[in-house]
Amino acid sequence: MQNSCDLLITDAKVVVPKVGMIETNIMIEGGRVKGFQHSLNNIQTSKKINAQGKYVLPGVIDPHVHYGVYTPVEEAAKSESRSAAIGGVTTMMRMLRLFASYHNIREHIDWGQTSHFVDYSIHASILKRDQIQDIQHLKKDYGIGSVKIYTNLDKDIGRILIDLEPGTHELMERPVNIDDKMISDIIREASTQGSLVLVHAEDPVVCSLLENENRKLIDPSKISKTGLKIWSKCRPPKSEAKVIYKTGKLARKFGSKLYFVHIGSRLALDSILKEREKGNSTIYVETCPHYLTHTEDFPQLLAKVVPPLRTKEDTQSMWSGLVNGVIDTVGSDHVANRLSIKLGGGDLWSTKAGFPGIATLLPVMLSKGVNEGRISLERVVEVTSYNAAKIFGLYPRKGTIERSADADLVIVDLNLVQKVTPEILQSHSDYSIYDGWDLQGWPIYTIVRGRVIVENGQVDENACGHGKFIHQAC
Ligand SMILES: [Zn+2]
Repeated sequence: MQNSCDLLITDAKVVVPKVGMIETNIMIEGGRVKGFQHSLNNIQTSKKINAQGKYVLPGVIDPHVHYGVYTPVEEAAKSESRSAAIGGVTTMMRMLRLFASYHNIREHIDWGQTSHFVDYSIHASILKRDQIQDIQHLKKDYGIGSVKIYTNLDKDIGRILIDLEPGTHELMERPVNIDDKMISDIIREASTQGSLVLVHAEDPVVCSLLENENRKLIDPSKISKTGLKIWSKCRPPKSEAKVIYKTGKLARKFGSKLYFVHIGSRLALDSILKEREKGNSTIYVETCPHYLTHTEDFPQLLAKVVPPLRTKEDTQSMWSGLVNGVIDTVGSDHVANRLSIKLGGGDLWSTKAGFPGIATLLPVMLSKGVNEGRISLERVVEVTSYNAAKIFGLYPRKGTIERSADADLVIVDLNLVQKVTPEILQSHSDYSIYDGWDLQGWPIYTIVRGRVIVENGQVDENACGHGKFIHQAC
């Protein structure tokens, strides 16, 4: 029947990327948007949500999420996709780090298959030379068209936690040595296969030199309050710029697509702009919420992250970059760890980098961005959903609200004020860098392919397993 649907959302202000805001009712059937209806006459529906004039946005696509490193994926998928749903995220893209061949990736996908509340996709980190040949297979057989390079890992400081095997909880740290030849080979092979290269841009030589110097100079027990400033000094923006220049040059040589993850400094952003202007490559930029809201003056080591938090001027540059279109996406760089493990070593150097952020991504953009007048809601929708869908080959299935698109929607209340606590974020993590902050603007409904996953902060427990692995069509 023409006028029937599974779910009807009435009295909605729908924000459609590149189109604008439409006051309408949304019909959803079979997990997809069936169409907009201005009149409610004769519509038959099994379920109705009255949006009461609130905004309906395309569900957030978080392009940068780490889970499966501190707890195995069958557990992590449950806790972190639940947290994602609370924050209005309907697709989470996992930064997978395997040490073995990616021919084993099927198992990793299967292990997460029954435990996601929201849809998910994967970026594959290339940590060893023999994984370069997997790039073709990842794209052809699994629709994984994005690989990540950690340029910050070399023979001196190249150790990284990799994803756990199922059923195991002991952290797995492995040595990784990514030299210039390997960086070049990865970019070349990815370009040949038409895959996108995600770049963690930091120079290991600069970083290890400065860290060694500072370790000698400073008594570690005395730096918990000023620690993040020292951390920023050890890993300066010029180290990012060096790698941006190097990889930009390779991208031009091979006609590549690069995506710089977690950019938080003005110098890095300016360096990327220079590379973009030189042409013969496509370059995308991601920033993270913490580079918009926090600086190196933050007095607690729990905000230690790589690259480090920077200055107030840097945060302003990130906001401008988002507004003027220089920055394409906001990714959380969510790391699902607990405070006891993060701070376990007791000083700056042994504190682990990374913190949770998936559930606060959209509330931060709504509160600090839209409600404080820094950015429009239309632009928020682009940088939190539409652009990521385009870049990673998920569009037009994801990233928009139009006929036949997946009904991945988030209804937000721009007036709702909530104090952030780890409890309301429902992650495995027991802390947040926003703990105690009153944020204004929260999701009240999260809908994934037509199914209501969160309603007024309550997660539908039966929806665990609803999330599907999504192939990228890029
Ligand atoms: Zn990351």
